[in-house]
This record gives sequence, C-alpha cells and structure tokens, in this order.
Amino acid sequence: MSAWEPVIGLEIHVHLKTRTKMFCRCPIAYFEPPNTQTCPVCLAMPGSLPVPNRKAVEWTILLGLALGCEIAPRAIFHRKNYFYPDNPKGYQISQYDEPLCVDGRVVVPGSDGDSEVGIVRAHLEEDAAKTVHVGGAEGRIHGSESSLVDFNRAGTPLVEIVTAPDIRSAEQAKRFLQVLRQMVVELDISDAEMEKGSMRFDVNVSVREAGESDFRTRTELKNMNSFNFAAKGIEREIRRQVELYESGGTVVQETLHFDPGNESAPPLRSKEEAQDYRYFPEPDLVPLEPDRELVERLRGGLPELPWARIRRLEAEIGFTLAEGLVTSGRDELYSRVPGEREAVANVVMNELAATGVEPADVNAEELGKVIAARADIPRAAFAEALAASGDEGFSAERYLAESAIADVSELDPVIDRILGQNQQQVEAYRGGKEGLLGFFVGQVMKETGGKANPKVVNERVREKLKA
Ligand SMILES: [Zn+2]
Repeated sequence: MSAWEPVIGLEIHVHLKTRTKMFCRCPIAYFEPPNTQTCPVCLAMPGSLPVPNRKAVEWTILLGLALGCEIAPRAIFHRKNYFYPDNPKGYQISQYDEPLCVDGRVVVPGSDGDSEVGIVRAHLEEDAAKTVHVGGAEGRIHGSESSLVDFNRAGTPLVEIVTAPDIRSAEQAKRFLQVLRQMVVELDISDAEMEKGSMRFDVNVSVREAGESDFRTRTELKNMNSFNFAAKGIEREIRRQVELYESGGTVVQETLHFDPGNESAPPLRSKEEAQDYRYFPEPDLVPLEPDRELVERLRGGLPELPWARIRRLEAEIGFTLAEGLVTSGRDELYSRVPGEREAVANVVMNELAATGVEPADVNAEELGKVIAARADIPRAAFAEALAASGDEGFSAERYLAESAIADVSELDPVIDRILGQNQQQVEAYRGGKEGLLGFFVGQVMKETGGKANPKVVNERVREKLKA
C-alpha cells in the first residue's frame, strides 16, 4: 500500500455575542420562545432596511487580527441568493470577493512540533433562521412529518473563518479547532458553545499520494458541532477515500452528513448540483472602510493568544498538559499557583477540574501550599482542600495540620515506643485481651498531643501487635 496524505481544510462559523442582531436591533436570545425576537428587518418585510452592527464589525476585525489576517481597507456586503424556508429575504447578506479579513496564518503547536495553518479569509455575515423538523428521528428532516421555522436566530452576526487546506491529520484539525474556540472565548466575542450552535464547522477532506502536489477531489462534512465527532468523521472519511482509490475507484465531490451513532456518512447532496448563489453587492449597505486607527488600537490590545501560551508552557510541563490547561482555560490559574510546575499542572488540570471549582475563585497561594504538602496529607483531606479552594477565606493551614497526624513515618516511632514501654499489656493483648487496643491508641494520642489521626494510629497499632 502506498502512503496516503490527508488534506484537510476547515470552515468555522462563530456567532458573535453582540447584544443585538447584525442588521437590526432585535436582541440575541437563544432560549426565548420561538419567533418572539423578531422585527420587520429580520423577518424581511418589504421596505425594511438593514443597518450594520458596529460592534460586530469591530469584533470581526479583532478576530481577523488574532488570526494574523490583513484587514481590508474596503469590504463589501453581498447578497448570496438562495431559496430556503429559513431564509426569509431569499438571500443572505454575506461577504464575497471583498471580505473584511484575508491572508492570515496561525502556528498551531503540536506534540511533534509546530505546524502552520493558513487563513484564507474571515468574513462577516448574518445567520439564517432555525428550522425545526418534527416527527422524524433526532430532529432530522429525513422522515419528519412537518418543519417549523424559528426566526429568533435569523440575523445573528456570524463570522465565517476559512482555512487553507494545510491540515494533515484528524488530530491536527481537532487541535486547531479547540485552540481556536478558546481564542474566541478569550477575546470575549463569542461564547462558542457548540451545543448551543454558537460555534459549528464544516470540514473538507481529500487524500493524495505522498509526494503528489495537486489536490484531488474533496468531500465536505457539514455542520459538525463536536471536536471528537469531527475527528472521528475525518478519520472515517480518509479511510473511505483511500479504500476507494486503492480499489480503483474515484472520489465523487459531495457533502456528507456524519452520524456519530452509526459511523456512517450518507451523502446529503452531490456537489454536481452546486448552487450558483448569484452574488451581487448589497445595494442597501455602503462598503465598510475600517478606520485604520481603530485597527491599530485593536491590534495593540491583543492579549497573548492560546497558541503562543501553549508553546510557552510546553517547555515547563510538556505539550499535553500545556495544551490541556490552555484549551480548558485553566492556565491562568496554573500560572498563579506556586510550586513544582508539573505537580501544579496535574492538580489544576485533573483533580481540581473534577471538583468544579471555578479557577478564577481559587486562592492560588494557599492552593500551592496544599499541593506542596500533598504527599503528607491524607487523600481525603487533600480532596477536601481542593473542593474548598475557591471558598472565601480558604486557608491551607487546617489541611496542612493533618499532614503530621496521618504521616506514618512520624507515627511509627511513637507507636513503637509506647508498645516498648508497655510490654505487659502487649502480651495480654496478644493473649486475647483485644480491648486493650483502645489503651494503646489513647497513649499514642496523648504522646502526640492529640494531633495524631486516630484512624491511622488504630491501623498501625493493630498491624504492629499482629507481628
Ligand atoms: Zn430584527
């Protein structure tokens, strides 16, 4: 079998979390009753006119800058014409050949080194309404009895990011998407919640033989909203295409719907009938000409981005922990907690995450003390400390105090001494007077000033008397 190289490109849609919609003043609300957040503009009443949302334009520029894009001096809104019930105007206002952000690149860190992903464009558009299919399985149109349209979502500002076909594995695609999502969240321009649909993506997949320079026919996996499903779907599609070529077949350009349940991807529609959207400039909107001063101000205000933070942290704690911390938004806490880096990273990433304590609430100094003393503290006390680390007035002291009392290496010599001093009782115990156990434990407690953990002392004394 020859070596096949996957070629993957992504199109990512991100809802901007502006207070109002892209071209009207309707509030953006995800969980309101259907068709309550609408007006003549987003319902496409004749004579209504769009007015662009300034914040959405500004945030798209910010995102473009974070993706290393050029911000176009002039961008134009176009009408993308298509007929569908979720599209009341009969066209979507989008950007076509003059988008706001072009020619970006990001460096994606990986366990086996950095890789570069080109960003072809990032443009601003409006989302369609939501179609709800009733009566079919899993809300799919297939097999449904009827379809309803909810216009609350119609007109939500949406940024579409298109990458170059630079991605070479499902794993790399997943990582890119995870880091991108984190970036969008940190820029505070979208909550990018995939379950809510505020971030979703399409994946283009083709394969070619190693060394080939041309691209072969690609297929599209549409509307993915889970990183793991996307990775699975990509792997499956790569396998399918390789098998096709190796058995002498060819790949047909089509759109596939990946069903994670049964791992099948039935074709949605063939790209043979690719639509002609008859783009033309939106006559109701003037071109966008971003103020250069604004662009530079936004550029200057960019924080250190997740890609860069992963690379920086990788040197201290390795790629996996660095990536995990950054993509879960826990690296800010990690950097505040003093102590041995890998131990801190592990606790922040795993045990602390499991408690559900908000990273921002954690008293980092005190948590650092607890982590440093971890080996000496009983497991239960350590867990308790983590769970309490976000509470007001949290202090490590109480939990550190437990370190002495449960530490066997400190307790053993005391126990040995007590047993040595009470040979008669030891003989009696071994002769069957087991009630004497309490006597020994009491002596140890007295000796340690009451600081010993009685449970541990009990166990140790029992153990030693057995010998
Ligand atoms: Zn509206």
